Amino acid sequence: MPTTATDAYSDIRDAVRALCAEFPDAYHRDIDSRRTYPEAFVEALTRAGWLAALIPQDYGGSGLGLAEASVIMEEINRSGGNAGACHGQMYNMGTLLRHGSAEQKQLYLPRIASGEWRLQSMGVTEPTSGTDTTKIRTTAVRRGDRYVINGQKVWISRIQHSDWMILLARTTPLADVAKKTEGMSIFMVDLRAAERSGMTVRPIANMVNHETNELFFENLEIPAENLIGEEGKGFRYILDGLNAERTLIAAECIGDGYWFIDRVTKYAGERIVFGRPIGQNQGVQFPIAEAYIEVEAANLMRFRACELFDKHQPCGAEANMAKYLAAKASWEAANACIQFHGGFGFADEYDVERKFRETRLYQVAPISTNLILSYVAEHLLGLPRSF
Ligand SMILES: Cc1cc2nc3c(=O)[nH]c(=O)nc-3n(C[C@H](O)[C@H](O)[C@H](O)COP(=O)(O)OP(=O)(O)OC[C@H]3O[C@@H](n4cnc5c(N)ncnc54)[C@H](O)[C@@H]3O)c2cc1C
Repeated sequence: MPTTATDAYSDIRDAVRALCAEFPDAYHRDIDSRRTYPEAFVEALTRAGWLAALIPQDYGGSGLGLAEASVIMEEINRSGGNAGACHGQMYNMGTLLRHGSAEQKQLYLPRIASGEWRLQSMGVTEPTSGTDTTKIRTTAVRRGDRYVINGQKVWISRIQHSDWMILLARTTPLADVAKKTEGMSIFMVDLRAAERSGMTVRPIANMVNHETNELFFENLEIPAENLIGEEGKGFRYILDGLNAERTLIAAECIGDGYWFIDRVTKYAGERIVFGRPIGQNQGVQFPIAEAYIEVEAANLMRFRACELFDKHQPCGAEANMAKYLAAKASWEAANACIQFHGGFGFADEYDVERKFRETRLYQVAPISTNLILSYVAEHLLGLPRSF
């Protein structure tokens, strides 16, 4: 498919494409139908070092930037796979890298880079507070050399296929802080140890094959040295990581968008109805062309966000706008793809309905479209705050 965006990443694309080609549509379809985890695929990506792209070479990774990492995620989705099974590791390790102590980096990063440990989970969302993160009720109370965790999380992904989770909890009650964003902290939680001593995991059956869970904490004790950075600053640290998360997910949506456009273009060129290819009708051509334009535009914003992130410059606006544009573009492309496949769009064997379900998630998670619009209105345009 032609792309107008300049792309300096063809080596990475070719290598990731070659690996993904070993896991064809039938593999992802089977994993989806059995609602199981693509272990062999994630293992192959880990062995090839792709999931350690952002870890510096000193710690055994390849020391690449967010732009390269985003290309890896894009190619996974573009190949017909779903990076949702493994994207957590990319942005979670960024939080550790930017805010962890020298000892923590030395302990975790080489093991994550080698594949010995996975850091695929991040526990932020709670059932009562939803998007209003500063109202979280999960608490971490210091007792000697431990923190004691109590509370509940929801929609926490990949717990069963991760060794560690970054957990956000309140260390100072909301009523006792000057700013509502203060008084929250982040911790490394050893998931297998936690399951044995105070954390209960309840899987949530859902529309996509996304392994996600409710978590309940009852006097879970974790070592004080698992605190990342300074106590009380966790919200700021998490926000920093969210810019990487949004940009990587934008790239996944772009990969989806290209996949949909590629499939529907081919199908519309071949499917003959009323004696001619359906793609000869402008009513069919225009929604596909429109989706293509939007994916290309989103692609530019994604690389702008990556550039700023990699230069350690503020990129909140660009990361949010990239996520917004890409999620919208992939959804438009998904709609065109399913529509012009007619009835076949609904058949499992075409993979369109699977990818359609998968890309729909990104209108809601990890941040909903409305919240991005509100961020742009208030933080960029200076309109009055609504909450
Ligand atoms: C499959 C899946 C995996 C997930 N994985 C994780 C994970 O690993 N870790 C984690 O911490 N979280 C995870 N999440 C949670 C996800 O980040 C949240 O679902 C998302 O941020 C929305 O929060 P909520 O569901 O509480 O919606 P709510 O906050 O209840 O909002 C519901 C809807 O209301 C609208 N809305 C809310 N407030 C406003 C407002 N002020 N103005 C306008 N509109 C508004 C938005 O459209 C929003 O979509 C996951 C979710 C899903 C579905």
